[in-house]
Amino acid sequence: MPRNKSIRSGWRCDSCGQLVPDLQAGWVEWLAAEGTSGRPKVSGLRLVHRRNPSARSPGPCGCGYNPRDEFRKNRGIVEGLALDRFAGPDGLMLLLSMIAERELPPQELIELAKRVQIPGYEAVYEMVHDAVSEGVITPSISAGFYLQCEIWEVLKWAKDRTSAKTRQLEPALSGACVAGNSK
Ligand SMILES: [Zn+2]
Repeated sequence: MPRNKSIRSGWRCDSCGQLVPDLQAGWVEWLAAEGTSGRPKVSGLRLVHRRNPSARSPGPCGCGYNPRDEFRKNRGIVEGLALDRFAGPDGLMLLLSMIAERELPPQELIELAKRVQIPGYEAVYEMVHDAVSEGVITPSISAGFYLQCEIWEVLKWAKDRTSAKTRQLEPALSGACVAGNSK
């Protein structure tokens, strides 16, 4: 059993699943392949650990796409940018221009924009579904788009839930605890 989903900062690497602790340790990559109509077909946008070993990354090396494999598969070219390029106002502008260009699926870019630009979004990502179904929040914009106060509400709920669980589990590890919220 994994530990309780704890509140963390940073990002989860889309390749190895481990923590990308800060902007410097992250990398955003995607694949460009030849499309049917001459336009490049771009896909597979993801946030992973940066390859550069000098960027003090605790994750394993080699989270990025393997250029040789991707080229062999469907002549895909691996492209990418450092995660910090997507941060701040300049990063938001870059994301908006990429969304406008529509080279990558807008849904994937919008998700990346939320992950990088919206405080707390990544931290609540895995539990927000539970939080909504348990009525902790009702997203006032729409599903997947949360106000800061809603994100904070989910974080607070998750923290209370985690400490309640720890209190329950510590005295008797009987295995009879009611989980009820596994994913
Ligand atoms: Zn990784």
